[in-house]
Amino acid sequence: MKIAVLPGDGIGTEIVAEAVRVLNVLDLKFETETALVGGAAYEAHGHPLPESTLKLAKEADAVLFGAVGDWKYDKLERQFRPEQAILGLRKNLGLFANFRPAICYEQLVGASSLKPELIAGLDILIIRELTGDIYFGQPRGRRTAVDGHFPGAEEAFDTMRYSRPEIERIAHVAFQAARKRSKRVTSVDKANVLETFQFWKDVVTEVGKEYPDVALDHMYVDNAAMQLVKEPKKFDVVVTGNMFGDILSDEAAMLTGSIGMLPSASLNSSNQGLYEPSHGSAPDIAGKGVANPLATILSAAMMLRFSLNQPEAADRIESAVKQVLAQGLRTADIWSAGTTKVGTREMGDAVVAAITKKTITG
Ligand code: NAD
Repeated sequence: MKIAVLPGDGIGTEIVAEAVRVLNVLDLKFETETALVGGAAYEAHGHPLPESTLKLAKEADAVLFGAVGDWKYDKLERQFRPEQAILGLRKNLGLFANFRPAICYEQLVGASSLKPELIAGLDILIIRELTGDIYFGQPRGRRTAVDGHFPGAEEAFDTMRYSRPEIERIAHVAFQAARKRSKRVTSVDKANVLETFQFWKDVVTEVGKEYPDVALDHMYVDNAAMQLVKEPKKFDVVVTGNMFGDILSDEAAMLTGSIGMLPSASLNSSNQGLYEPSHGSAPDIAGKGVANPLATILSAAMMLRFSLNQPEAADRIESAVKQVLAQGLRTADIWSAGTTKVGTREMGDAVVAAITKKTITG
């Protein structure tokens, strides 16, 4: 097994270091190779995704990714901005399925801005299609309008499109994921207004017939946005397109109130994947040793489960995380009165200790 380790920028290097330490105490056989990505790669090689980094990512079974970006790169031409590295990796590795679990840990119920009873026990999985939709559809650009409300005016346009195979493969991913959970899928669309999403709904319904054991329902995206804050626990697996998924997965993430806790996985059809925390490079706290490494550590657990076929090792990481939270250890982002504030390294130490102890006691 080979893992490409791409820490990136800002807190990326600090949090990935802790995840790698955790992986190393699991006593598994794997090889890791680290490379620059994002702003760090731009500084060293003049490009956020150098050929050598892309080659490493393609050859690896999985990529453990930190985060990229810093405000200082905002004035660069778009192709040189750190965030382009993520888009390049998604495209080149064909990572079409993005998994974003939003789990509310018992000990962190108070961190949410919603009432505790609404989110206690929350466990949603948002599955977002990641390589199609209006984000990639061609043509796009700026031009002079020939029709519309203001003919002759300057206008910009994008193209929303989905092909049948693109919808089918993400629908299969969702139904299969639901089979391992409580067997419910909500497909989110805007079929009442958009042709693309009427087609989405039709194709998801057809695929659903192959999974009679999984209950499928459909919801318009505007209603889904409301229901996620009104009654989030009624969702299990949510599957949707790239743009709606981008927005809803951030909304679902914030239900838990703690962005530093949320992992994510992006997979291709051979289960090769890129695993990263849901948050960014947090330049405001970079280098201070205070970032929460748990989202990255939990991303490493997802990597073991989905790409490296080591579900037991994944379970060990996840239960170690629950254990350190139960011990009352908190980084600053999830700290509350009565708990113990720790830094990035100490949090990593605690997870390592919880795993090692479990190994000894069997
Ligand atoms: P951000 O997620 O980096 O930070 C938002 C807020 O959350 C900040 O206050 C930050 O301190 C805090 N935060 C984030 N992660 C944390 C952690 N692990 N522990 C404790 N606190 C944490 O989002 P932003 O500030 O909008 O963006 C910063 C940079 O990150 C930008 O350059 C942006 O483009 C980039 N970005 C990268 C990714 C990625 O690499 N996948 C994703 C989002 C943003």
